[in-house]
Amino acid sequence: MDAHVPQRAPLGGLMITPARGRVIPIRDARASRTAPRVSAGSQGPEEGLPAEAPGAKAGLLDSLHRPLLDLRISVTDRCNFRCVYCMPREVFDHDYPYVAHDALLSFEEITRLARIFVSRGTRKIRLTGGEPLLRRDLESLVRMLAGVRAELGVPLGIALTTNGALLQRKAAALAEAGLQRVTVSLDALDDALFRRMSDVDFPVSQVLAGIEAAAAAGLAPVKINMVVKRGLNDHQILPMARYFRERGHVLRFIEFMDVGNSNGWRLDDVVFTEQVLERINGEMPVEPVSDAASGAVAQRWRYRDGSGEIGTISSISRAFCGDCTRARLSTEGSLYLCLFGQQGHDLRALLRGGAGDAQIGAAIGAAWAARDDRYSELRGVPGGASGQRIEMSYIGG
Ligand code: SAM
Repeated sequence: MDAHVPQRAPLGGLMITPARGRVIPIRDARASRTAPRVSAGSQGPEEGLPAEAPGAKAGLLDSLHRPLLDLRISVTDRCNFRCVYCMPREVFDHDYPYVAHDALLSFEEITRLARIFVSRGTRKIRLTGGEPLLRRDLESLVRMLAGVRAELGVPLGIALTTNGALLQRKAAALAEAGLQRVTVSLDALDDALFRRMSDVDFPVSQVLAGIEAAAAAGLAPVKINMVVKRGLNDHQILPMARYFRERGHVLRFIEFMDVGNSNGWRLDDVVFTEQVLERINGEMPVEPVSDAASGAVAQRWRYRDGSGEIGTISSISRAFCGDCTRARLSTEGSLYLCLFGQQGHDLRALLRGGAGDAQIGAAIGAAWAARDDRYSELRGVPGGASGQRIEMSYIGG
């Protein structure tokens, strides 16, 4: 048995990774399979897009009839934080095999792929990582992606997920380049706890300044993602809600997930949406907002007194695979069809091997057509969801 593969055991009907005294690094699970083969000169309807299918005009459909509407692009697998639930320092240390610089997709390669995705129906691109603001001159990439929007004349949303450390410096340039929305990950207002959770010597006040800079640059309302881990930061739920309600930003509570293989995930550590709402309702009653777009990961709630909104992302308690319209492009150009995917489709090999746009588009279409991933729905089913998962920093959160 591979000593690095987490053992899974049934508990209360849910398959979970048992608690371990120490986080154990896994073997590198970044194997890519080659993207599905298609002929270079294919002129017919793309695979995965039957000419007569309802929704064909809207783009690609997978085997469960889910369209491909969102693309998350990881622009680097490096991060300046070492969040204990995402990139724990024991694993992501000096010896960690980060992707080499020349293996990263260039901005030109990313833009070319984006154009192919958008011309096949993708309507939202989110830049993420790792920490995307560590990628030098990210605003140039944003400008190039905005150029795709202009060139194709479609309503393409361009968004960013960041830890906010460099946001104060970058917000205005990013907005000017065409960024429309920013989501900032922040798990605590308490400075000592923030430093403990991000495991870096960095003040929370600078992330808060970054959030205000983003709002001032026109990226409002800023969304704040808070991963809640029992016994660690759940006492910050109310202070965070109060703080962001006052400032008009949208705080979203995320259930701690079993992504990757290195965060020592245990079901006991999850604070469920229901429990979060109970606390919020005790002080600041909320009611559901019913117009959440299909494919949205968050459920929206408005404060009954009209003072704003919060969101809940119930990754564990309420799987949203049925609505999942997201694909992910890894740092080195592998296409993943699920956050919990185990294998990517190597688009970089096509890009660098001289394939034309039609051939790459057909490969994307074929991969999407075969997609049947629904990891979160199968999580509680014995034998349903298992195996090595890709690290979130590589695949893009
Ligand atoms: N560095 C950027 C940031 O901090 O926002 C982007 C990458 S980060 C992987 C993207 C998001 O994933 C963050 O909001 C982070 O909190 C979330 N995340 C990471 N690990 C998670 C986990 N185990 N469960 C739930 N959310 C997680």
